Amino acid sequence: MSEIGKLFVIVGPSGVGKGTLVKHLMNRVPYLFLSISATTRSPRKDEKDGINYYFLKTNEFEELIKAGDFIEWATIYGNYYGTLREKVEQKLSLPTDVILEIDVQGARQIKENADKAVFIFIKPPSEEELKERLRERGTETADEIEKRLSIAIEELKSESEFDHVIINDNLNEAIDRLVDIIIKYRESNTIN
Ligand code: ADP
Ligand code: 5GP
Repeated sequence: MSEIGKLFVIVGPSGVGKGTLVKHLMNRVPYLFLSISATTRSPRKDEKDGINYYFLKTNEFEELIKAGDFIEWATIYGNYYGTLREKVEQKLSLPTDVILEIDVQGARQIKENADKAVFIFIKPPSEEELKERLRERGTETADEIEKRLSIAIEELKSESEFDHVIINDNLNEAIDRLVDIIIKYRESNTIN
């Protein structure tokens, strides 16, 4: 398949603000397609199937793995998460850039398999602040937050594997940096 669009992979620990940054990015930059992942975790209050995620049963997800329908997938906090191949490849064959918002395990798989992708690692100003954001978001129990934090500490060691690092401290500055990176790639039309 010939790819015209570029693949931008936004990666970083849970609670760092990836979703928030991407939401602003989508409002600021045209011709971007945000891939909707599939997951077996339960929807949070206000999350909708087909909008936030495709919420699947475990056996449905495993069927898709077997069929080779994921570009990448990972088990995260005891649930499956994965990027569906069809939509992403279809969009990349058009002049549309694609955004993936995924974890470190998934980003590593994309790195191995996709020859052209740009990886942007989002990190928190501190572990304390990350914990605070997870607490304030209020979507996980205290136990789940602890689990996410211990995985986050491991994930934060991987930043040097990625092309760009953004510290999401001041939200507006972080949004500007993200927009800037994407616009610069578009202008230069080169990857790496
Ligand atoms: P992720 O998608 O990485 O799991 P979210 O986008 O859900 O993270 O953000 C986690 C929480 O942190 C949310 O409550 C969000 O409003 C908040 N948040 C995001 N960015 C910032 C920031 N720069 N400063 C303070 N709070 C932030
Ligand atoms: P959450 O449960 O908070 O929505 O997401 C948990 C973690 O899963 C986050 O780090 C998020 O980036 C990651 N994630 C979401 N979708 C995917 C995906 O399709 N693949 C991978 N590998 N990770 C994903």
